[in-house]
Amino acid sequence: MIRKVCDCRFLLTIRCFLDNKFILAILYLYQFRFDSILGYLTSGRVRLMALVVQKYGGTSMGSIERIKNVARRVAKGFDEGNEMIVVVSAMSGETNKLVALANETCEFPDLREYDVLVASGEQVSIALLAMTLIGMGYKAKSYHGWQVPIITDSVSSKARIEEIPDDKVRADLKDGVIVIVAGFQGIDRQGNVTTLGRGGSDTSAVAMAAALKADVCEIYTDVDGVYTTDPNICSDARKVDKISYDEMLELASLGAKVLQIRSVEFAKKYNVDIHVRSSFNDNQGTIVTKEDKEMEAVLVSGIAYDKNEAKIAVMHVPDKPGIAAKLLTPLSDANISVDMIVQNVSMDGFTDFTFTVTKADFKKALQITGDAAKVVEAKEMISDENISKISVVGVGMRSHAGVATKMFQALAAEGINIQMISTSEIKVSVVIDSKYTELAVRVLHDAFGLSGK
Ligand code: ADP
Ligand code: ASP
Ligand code: MG
Repeated sequence: MIRKVCDCRFLLTIRCFLDNKFILAILYLYQFRFDSILGYLTSGRVRLMALVVQKYGGTSMGSIERIKNVARRVAKGFDEGNEMIVVVSAMSGETNKLVALANETCEFPDLREYDVLVASGEQVSIALLAMTLIGMGYKAKSYHGWQVPIITDSVSSKARIEEIPDDKVRADLKDGVIVIVAGFQGIDRQGNVTTLGRGGSDTSAVAMAAALKADVCEIYTDVDGVYTTDPNICSDARKVDKISYDEMLELASLGAKVLQIRSVEFAKKYNVDIHVRSSFNDNQGTIVTKEDKEMEAVLVSGIAYDKNEAKIAVMHVPDKPGIAAKLLTPLSDANISVDMIVQNVSMDGFTDFTFTVTKADFKKALQITGDAAKVVEAKEMISDENISKISVVGVGMRSHAGVATKMFQALAAEGINIQMISTSEIKVSVVIDSKYTELAVRVLHDAFGLSGK
């Protein structure tokens, strides 16, 4: 077809020359170049080769049948002419099993060994996917994090990716190999296996996409995209077509586990658009991208909940400079992040100091805070694991007042007591009794008019 167009233009050009219509001939030639390139690219017959990073989560990799489904999707991408890098999680439930085993060995399992153990889940899934693809006649190779290598810092169980040399992967891609990378894991500069925190395969995928300057980064999961709240607890939840990095950062940090927070940090830093979508259908998902004017117009974009935190309150501590630092420094020295912090107004020179940590850090945090509480001569320490954090998120809040009031009124109408409150420019969070989690999410979803119906 292209040849025919070419021949026809060529003949016309010759004719123009013969007719002494030199200028017309030049015009024809130019037009030919422009038309043909443009037509060629837009005709749909020709696709440019893209570098595609796809990530498949635990549910998508949960059985051999599902791995075959993933393999078919990857193969389709490859057959369309793309270079494919696939990052996978462990089969669903496997990482939980490994964590439970670790916790049976002793009260505080050694974190270096914890990483060696939990990284093994992904070892199984990468090999199974590679075998499936090879069985289908494709060239595929699986890599552990350390083989890529995905180089991280040395903070076991919460490592951060520092660098990903790309030569090995690029060489494979050039050879037509589908590269399969174990998510969630890396290696530090001393050669220790590290893991990136629960849900870390999302971060592995976005980091690979950033390092290799991929054209497409798709995170395949068990829901169609990012919703106004968890669709598994609120049937009215609505899928959003586009969400800003900042809103997604807030939602992720507030418990919407559809993306790990660090993956969004990476995406924002390196300008990677993430397409969150389902591995069970071909529906268009949600694009996580730079903020635009349209997004600002939305007051509240989502409700998040987090049942994964616990509260520690140090009661009756002297209200004087240095106390907060004395309580919190030992925690940060142990790499434990503190989330919400509330200090009461002082009564008779004493105050109460309350904060939350993740449940994974809770036991250790209790022990450390117990020691620190003695140092600051606190009266007592109380703790509660049955809490839940509920948050209302939206970039529109920057320019609108009244979100917090509306939130508190909606919760009060259901008799839900608020234990702690924290706000930022684009979110309001409250801590409540965890037994009201689902109710609170649905009530707030309704109150802010987020329903899809
Ligand atoms: P994967 O195993 O694919 O990484 P995850 O379980 O980590 O999947 O994340 C997907 C889950 O995130 C969904 O099944 C859903 O229950 C939950 N989720 C929480 N909040 C949201 C939200 N706002 N939008 C979409 N999913 C959400
Ligand atoms: N398998 C790991 C986890 O369950 C990492 C991931 O799935 O993203 O947390
Ligand atoms: Mg996940």
